[in-house]
Amino acid sequence: MDVKILPALQDNYMYLIVDKATKEAAIVDPVEPKTVLEAVKQNGVNLTTVLTTHHHWDHAGGNDELVKLHPGLKVYGGDVRIGALTNKVKHNDKFNLGNLNVECLFTPCHTAGHICYYVSTDKEEDETAVFTGDTLFLGGCGRFFEGTAEQMYHALINVLSSLPEDTKVFCGHEYTLQNLKFAAHVEPQNKDVEKKILWSTERRGEGKPTVPSTIREEKLYNPFMRVETAAVKAHAGKECAVATMQRIRQEKDNFKG
Ligand SMILES: [Zn+2]
Repeated sequence: MDVKILPALQDNYMYLIVDKATKEAAIVDPVEPKTVLEAVKQNGVNLTTVLTTHHHWDHAGGNDELVKLHPGLKVYGGDVRIGALTNKVKHNDKFNLGNLNVECLFTPCHTAGHICYYVSTDKEEDETAVFTGDTLFLGGCGRFFEGTAEQMYHALINVLSSLPEDTKVFCGHEYTLQNLKFAAHVEPQNKDVEKKILWSTERRGEGKPTVPSTIREEKLYNPFMRVETAAVKAHAGKECAVATMQRIRQEKDNFKG
């Protein structure tokens, strides 16, 4: 598979996923339809599918216009509030994009209908990727607008942490440096946080995105993926991992860095 990163708005990312063998393509969260169609033309791919992570305007707000400009698209999502929705999906729903397998992971919390999309092939040696919208960010997670700490714990620790470690993580926003500053506050002794800050600062200085990371990496430096560790629990002053999730999310909401 090939993934083209398409920056949009202030700090959003859209992703053009291409099955190299058939040239069939899907776009994740096409908030800027014209940018998407330009990339489709430039890459000579056949766009058939829209994968919407959640209904917020900066993710789903381009769906109606894209479908007008490019009729016949299948629009997937887990929430009836998503514009131009044709295929409402639930946890473990699967479909194909050319030779690629797409699996829907229901991860409610940031919004009640949030879906992450896990993309793989039938060959085990091939790379895998997950498109996490505003559930999992590099170094952080989305705000709990319509859900609870239990739900985010389930999404991050039970669902996303179970994916193969090498799975590439493509998230909805370039929030990495802000998130890592908070991660360093939670775990001042964590060398992986320090290293990722240096690397991300360099990347951003060159005007390059910090995505993707991997599930393995996120488990090393992302405090929200680390709520089961003694260090993060100690910072939160909690013994329970869900209470730790709740506490550090509250702290991050008010963190000035
Ligand atoms: Zn959102």
